[in-house]
Amino acid sequence: MTNKEIARLLKLTATLLELHGENQFKIRIYTNAVINIEKQEDSLFEKSKEELEALEGIGKGLAQSLIEIQETESFAQLNELLDSTPVGVIEMLELKGIGPKKIKVVWEVLNIESIDQLYEACKLGQLAKLKGFGSKTQETILQNLEYLISQRGKVLYAEAEPLANQLLMKLKKNYPSLKVEITGEMRRKMDVVEQVEIIINTIDSNQIKKALDNEESIEIVNSLSGPFSLRGKFLSINLKWLIRFSKPSEFYTKLMLSTGSGKHLRGIAKDDNNLQQYLLDNDIIDEEAAYSKLGYTFVEPEMREGTFEIELAKENKLPDLLKLEYLKGPFHNHSKYSDGQNTILQLAEYCIDQGYEYLGLSDHSKSAFYANGLQEYHIKKQHEEIDELNKQLAPFKIFKGIESDILNDGSLDYDTDVLSSFDFIVASVHSNLNMGKEKATQRLLKAIVNPFTTFLGHPTGRLLLRRKGYAIDHKKIIDACALHNVIIEINANPWRLDLDWRWVNYAIDQEVVLSINPDAHEIKGFNHMKFGVFMGRKGGLTIEKTFNAWSLESVNNYLKARKKKI
Ligand SMILES: [Zn+2]
Ligand SMILES: [Zn+2]
Repeated sequence: MTNKEIARLLKLTATLLELHGENQFKIRIYTNAVINIEKQEDSLFEKSKEELEALEGIGKGLAQSLIEIQETESFAQLNELLDSTPVGVIEMLELKGIGPKKIKVVWEVLNIESIDQLYEACKLGQLAKLKGFGSKTQETILQNLEYLISQRGKVLYAEAEPLANQLLMKLKKNYPSLKVEITGEMRRKMDVVEQVEIIINTIDSNQIKKALDNEESIEIVNSLSGPFSLRGKFLSINLKWLIRFSKPSEFYTKLMLSTGSGKHLRGIAKDDNNLQQYLLDNDIIDEEAAYSKLGYTFVEPEMREGTFEIELAKENKLPDLLKLEYLKGPFHNHSKYSDGQNTILQLAEYCIDQGYEYLGLSDHSKSAFYANGLQEYHIKKQHEEIDELNKQLAPFKIFKGIESDILNDGSLDYDTDVLSSFDFIVASVHSNLNMGKEKATQRLLKAIVNPFTTFLGHPTGRLLLRRKGYAIDHKKIIDACALHNVIIEINANPWRLDLDWRWVNYAIDQEVVLSINPDAHEIKGFNHMKFGVFMGRKGGLTIEKTFNAWSLESVNNYLKARKKKI
């Protein structure tokens, strides 16, 4: 367990205590501990009991709990709280727009113990009548509930990927002579997925079933399985899997039928034939041949959505897609100066190790007080440190940036002289996420017009599966970025993946430059860039249109020229 995971357990404990109406003093013990644990650099589990007791905000009682956590991944107080809280109520704690205090009220007054009951009560207008709620609160809760319910049974691609790969490797290892491939929405690299789908070129289902029967990480659901497929679920997260069996001769046919969306399979068409029909009528030996039979060029699996790719494949104009290894460095990252876990030197050294040419640092700005945003004097200090590091680490370069909050009226939160001290500025919204579409669009437009804005950060503020994000007029925003030469980030954090991939191609068509920004808050966060690359590839992103695939010299020249224009 990492310190972060331990902190999460203690945070949950504090939330549950609040839910059960415990006194503030007791709650504060845990919230304080969380703050102090997040500051710790070394693993708590490497410390002795005495060392733990001596830590700020920990003390004897909590030290004992930490030791318990090390042994059992939980502790008595938390177990007790979990036992006395219905699962559905715990699930409600995930819901945005309603905190533990309000959940306590609906639980006690309306006897609501599940998300579905809460939904019913909102629909009947019962929440609005509760003291301290009102119809606006009810409406917000209802909207968040509808989103949560619509996303049920789905998981982030990033969470599904390691499980899919494990299952794939298991099959490959057991049957080295068979062809096994991931297919379906996982192969299309969708941002969220409902199941892991694998195809294997054998119809000996019993043999495969036997091999998986004693696998501890999965469960086979026999009632949903048949001679041509095996279905089950993973036990670590709520995710289904499906293994399709195929005769060797039908392998590529079935692979293609299960990869492409319906729109793609029917959209790739010639005369009165289309790809779907063609595949149903013919067995093929490779994917390229199927496309060329109908007069199209090969379409990468990620792009098989049935949108812009069809025409491009017909005209032989599909682009060479971006690859992870083309990236030359990451922009939009946080260090210890704000809410990151690592020093600037640690981040830079890791980037050098990865073969990157540069690092774009952008800690939070002063309005982001909850994330330890930088005051003017911090910025001065940070810039001195970067200047010194740039001397030491040359030719590697650290660019001085900031993730400047876009305030309610669309302005950035520093004076001009401070803004002009940065090499680049990522402008992002972090507050007041409930604006209407018109207002939210105007807010972003004002930030885009600001000559200091280099990047537009996570355009909608969404958190996949958790928070829908504010509505914006994507066309207007992208057009404005084109006009004002603002780079749009594809925030590569798997929870965000914002700009949404569905808008990537439109942005490219408007000649907007995009950037795969990890928004790393720790070194591990740099690994998220691959998820951003997937989203870019879905939208047809190329090396030329990806800012952080440019060389140090190009990036440097671009940023300098842009600053000069202000
Ligand atoms: Zn941000
Ligand atoms: Zn950020």
